[in-house]
Amino acid sequence: MAPVIKYTKIFIDNQWVDAKSKKTFETVSPHSGLPIANVAEGDKADVDLAVEAAKRAFHRNSEWRLLDASRRGRLLFKFAELIERDIDYLAELESYDNGMVLRTAKMLMMNTGNHIRYMASLADKIQGDTIPLDGDTFSYTLKQPIGVCGLILPWNVPILMFINKVVSALTAGCTVVVKPAEQTPLTALALAALLKEAGIPNGVVNVVPGFGEGAGVALTHHPDVAKISFTGSVEVGKLIQQAAGANNLKRVTLELGGKSPLIIMNDADLNIAVPYAANGIFFHQGQICVAASRLYVQSEIYDKFVEAAVNYAKTIKVGSPTDDSTQNGPQIDEEMMNKVLGYIEKGKKEGAKLLTGGNRIGTTGYYIEPTVFADVNDDMTIAKEEIFGPVQSILKFDTLEEVIDRANNTNYGLAAGVFTTSLNTALQFSKHVEAGTVWVNTYLVGGSQVPFGGFKESGIGRENGIHTVDPYLEVKTVVVSLPKKL
Ligand code: NAD
Repeated sequence: MAPVIKYTKIFIDNQWVDAKSKKTFETVSPHSGLPIANVAEGDKADVDLAVEAAKRAFHRNSEWRLLDASRRGRLLFKFAELIERDIDYLAELESYDNGMVLRTAKMLMMNTGNHIRYMASLADKIQGDTIPLDGDTFSYTLKQPIGVCGLILPWNVPILMFINKVVSALTAGCTVVVKPAEQTPLTALALAALLKEAGIPNGVVNVVPGFGEGAGVALTHHPDVAKISFTGSVEVGKLIQQAAGANNLKRVTLELGGKSPLIIMNDADLNIAVPYAANGIFFHQGQICVAASRLYVQSEIYDKFVEAAVNYAKTIKVGSPTDDSTQNGPQIDEEMMNKVLGYIEKGKKEGAKLLTGGNRIGTTGYYIEPTVFADVNDDMTIAKEEIFGPVQSILKFDTLEEVIDRANNTNYGLAAGVFTTSLNTALQFSKHVEAGTVWVNTYLVGGSQVPFGGFKESGIGRENGIHTVDPYLEVKTVVVSLPKKL
């Protein structure tokens, strides 16, 4: 049964309101291709109201600013508890709106409570330094919240993205205006309701659903927004950076795409490497920024590996996100499905060997067969561009030196992996590959405690880890005269 959709309006100042224009847009089920709700379509007028509310909530005498840091943290602990209370409902809503396999959504949700507690526990540990200065002075630093933050979310893992950005910003003491992706607005609104229930003061969290060119652009150009944190495509990341530079020099954090290389050495344990490589690309239908989308296999084991990879891909069960046996669900929407199918056509045309998959499944919803290409070379489009779909591209290499250079020959730098039983190979690769995360004999493993972000065009800044609040803080130096003579 479909989950009940409770919230479809804009959330400003802890109130649910229609868009000023009264416009709405449809959000569509990736499984059926049918609309599941009409959601208020915010644009500049609504963003202006949301930013005003967030600005009021950030005033030095506001309830939020006067709250002790430890209580700010505890308020977010309450949010974590409410999420845990509603895990099943939130996972169902995420799966319904996004097409994420329900079991996957539940697995991701199981960890969100502790993830929030990890970040929120940093609230009363934000502290500066005392610094000796020459002369009759002493100095100290204060770390203070940056102000109103615009948080622009992608559609691939909507709940996790909301939590990463909103909880980090609130832990720092900022106020926020969130713009969820137009494909997946529903869980962001449900989470806003939980923040209100947790007792978040008016105006601290505002959520304006809408499109990039409407609400997104308004937020990135707003003079009272001090910072934008964005996850999504490189193309839009560059527009956001430009917008920030064109007006008030907003601080910008960007988590963008990837074309992550995974290296399988001759000495790797294939019983482990084959399933990890498959999961690295096929998990969530390939719609994750760290997907292992360039799979480099060393020449001695190449044929054996390719055969095993194809056999593995053929066992992946694609089907309705709510079926217990489903491993892969649908792509997010028709546009992305067609984009992925277009890449598959290009792969065939440019001479890669299609060994399994390659087609849309059925005519309802946006399903694609798990697809494996072998004999891919570095110049082919499928080896260069982010596909964001279930397409494994296998390339052959001979030496470690060669594969490090080939792995780094890209504008991306989000993640990388290596399977080997040689410690030296693992350490050399980890040192020289240009990527924000490197996995050794594993893939896709992460957690609250480790920083996440990209080299090169894969982004600017890091989320998670002990410094997750830093991008939401300014450092202030205070210098005080303290004459020695009493
Ligand atoms: P996108 O970058 O177009 O959209 C992401 C978010 O930015 C959405 O909320 C969107 O409304 C907003 N946006 C779009 N244009 C904007 C603008 N000019 N100003 C401000 N906000 C704007 O991503 P998409 O179209 O949803 O997906 C396209 C590609 O992005 C995918 O193929 C994939 O490569 C990449 N992607 C990456 C991630 C990631 O986790 N790094 C997540 C989703 C998508």
